[in-house]
Amino acid sequence: MTEHPQTNARKILAQHGLHPNKKLGQNFLTDAHVLEKIVAAADITSDDLVIEVGPGLGVLTTELARVASKVTAIEIDTNLAAILRETTPSNVEIINKDILKTDLGDIIAQSGFLRAKMVANLPYYITTPIIFSVLENALPINTLVVMVQKEVADRMLASPSTKAYGLLTLSVAYYGKVSLVANVPPNCFFPRPDVHSAVVKIDVAPHNNINRGIFFPIIKAAFANRRKTLQNCLAASADLNLTKDAAAKLLFDASLPESIRGEALSFEDFARLATAYEK
Ligand code: SAM
Repeated sequence: MTEHPQTNARKILAQHGLHPNKKLGQNFLTDAHVLEKIVAAADITSDDLVIEVGPGLGVLTTELARVASKVTAIEIDTNLAAILRETTPSNVEIINKDILKTDLGDIIAQSGFLRAKMVANLPYYITTPIIFSVLENALPINTLVVMVQKEVADRMLASPSTKAYGLLTLSVAYYGKVSLVANVPPNCFFPRPDVHSAVVKIDVAPHNNINRGIFFPIIKAAFANRRKTLQNCLAASADLNLTKDAAAKLLFDASLPESIRGEALSFEDFARLATAYEK
């Protein structure tokens, strides 16, 4: 990086008569140390295809392109896509599209790579749809390194019996292992966002041995009402179709106390519950 990214972001926008679009979550990363941490966490080699969501002004894109074989970056903003096409290295492909309307499986297949890594400073208004479209559709993406709101990172990384622990924690845990890469304060962006951010890494390794069609209804039921016992929550779920007695037996079969609340269960406890239900 030859120039401080902060000056760069301001300058490039001004040169093109553009302003950051708040609705599109345009908070451009300006901190070189955070950029380095993101790229290092993704552990990219010269054989890798990297998918970037929302390249913005290309500050992360350019760093990724230095180490990857190819970077495919999907940017919804037509003005930014035009700038990126002029300014990014030749191993970067810019796709001017909405990520939620983009078939990433197709892009990876067409590119000739067997799999890809996703690295992105995500637009926060669609963080979870983007992450879960990768995880739920079993796309050939084995690593995600993404900047998200700190509150979302906290929920992904939460321990049982804490306020942040719940559906998001367990849903991500089903699909892989999450770790914290960096906490990122608002002053690392231009313009400054209203929230704190964090970079997380998800190493994708789905628990395919646990029936998804059972595990997810169970965790949804367990957190539908935090004040109720797990037994009552399970019995109240239309998806699970259990009487109160059947819910009690299920807890017994999974070696869980009758009065326990869902928030006290670990991922392994929920996995045992799903297995007991299947039987
Ligand atoms: N990567 C840049 C950086 O780190 O400085 C910009 C990150 S900014 C938080 C999010 C980017 O996502 C913006 O460039 C925005 O235009 C883009 N974006 C927003 N919604 C999008 C969507 N639905 N599909 C693709 N890109 C989107």
